[in-house]
Order: sequence, then structure tokens, then C-alpha cells
Amino acid sequence: MQAVVWHGVGDIRLDDVPEPQINRPTDAIVRITSSAICGTDLHFIRGTVSNMVEGTILGHEGVGIVEKVGSSVRNFKEGDRVVIPSTIACGYCSYCRASYYAQCDNANPNGRDAGTAFYGGPKDTGPFNGLQCENALVPFASVGMVKLPDEVNDEKAIMLSDIFPTGYFGADMARIKPGHTVAIFGCGPVGQFAIASAKLRGAGRIYAVDSVDSRLPLE
Ligand SMILES: [Zn+2]
Ligand SMILES: [Zn+2]
Repeated sequence: MQAVVWHGVGDIRLDDVPEPQINRPTDAIVRITSSAICGTDLHFIRGTVSNMVEGTILGHEGVGIVEKVGSSVRNFKEGDRVVIPSTIACGYCSYCRASYYAQCDNANPNGRDAGTAFYGGPKDTGPFNGLQCENALVPFASVGMVKLPDEVNDEKAIMLSDIFPTGYFGADMARIKPGHTVAIFGCGPVGQFAIASAKLRGAGRIYAVDSVDSRLPLE
């Protein structure tokens, strides 16, 4: 299959790579129908985040169709359409049970203190192969995929992998309540989702602050 592979700083290639295989009963294989490029990927390409391993498939945003599930994955079947959250978590440790999936004790092979495990990241995040590929391996698949209703198309669903939750997290940390006046600094994609999230939480007035001309006319 084809995949976007990290070879070095400034050296990203579309390579032919082996098809992923189910290695553990908790794995699934998903045929990717949509993927996207996150600002985080640009750090790896520019070298502003180090420790990437040559050969790692990039990308942590993906929507697709389940092709195969391991024997322990009972809540999904072949043909299910899913969005894949960017972080990888076991679903059963104390942090996962408290919904702190990014703090999972089990998903990162470097140990519980190593930090968040995610797709297509540097060595200390796994490394796990990413989602900018034709067929992706999803570990801990019973908790690492979310079923999509038909009316949510790929273009909308892909936002749920990473970028919308990232913007929402900002709005959540700011404890926005109905009627609040909110200022959002930086109106790139994450900032725009922070704006959308502030609206969702009922903000009364929102100031969007940015110095990029093309973003200023956006509503
Ligand atoms: Zn990202
Ligand atoms: Zn966990």
C-alpha cells in the first residue's frame, strides 16, 4: 500500500510499504477514506520537534471503513465507518476510566511516564505508524475508534480526530459559561474551532484576534 513516510527533516515521501497486520487480538485494520495534515506534522517535517524514527508513517487524523478486527474487538465489525481519535489509549487503566485517555498507563510502549501515545509521532510517543496511508493499524481498537452516523460526511468527521477536540479543550479549560465575553488569540484552524466551541458553550461576545489578513474576513 502507499503511505506518507518520514525519512528525515525536510524529507517526506509517498512510499510503497507493507500492509499492516493484526498483531494483537485488540487490533483493527481500517481502510482510510480521509486523512489530514495537522500543524504538529509540520513540526516533524521542519525538525522543530525531534526524535522521529525514519520509516514512521505520518498522520494522526483519519476516517475510514473497518476492514478487519482482532478477536477481542467485539463492538465493531467489518464495514463499520469510523473516525479514529489521534491519541492511543487502552480504555481500562484508571486514567482511561476517568476519561483522561491522553494519560493512559498502558498504551505507550516506552512506559507509563513516557507521555501521550499517538499516531505518526516521535519515538517517545510510541512510535506508532500514522494514518496518512491506505490501511491503518488501530491498537486498542474497541476504544480507539468511534462509529459514524451516515449523515456525518468524511469532511466533517475528520475534524473530530484531533483539531475540533483541541479547540474545544481550550474553550473547556477557559471555563466558558453562557454570556461570557471571550477573546481568542490566533485564528488558524484550531483557533476557529475554539471560536466554534465558545459559541457552543454560549459565549455572549467573542473577540477573534489575528494578524493574518486572509483570516480576518472569516465569520
Ligand atoms: Zn494534531
Ligand atoms: Zn489506559
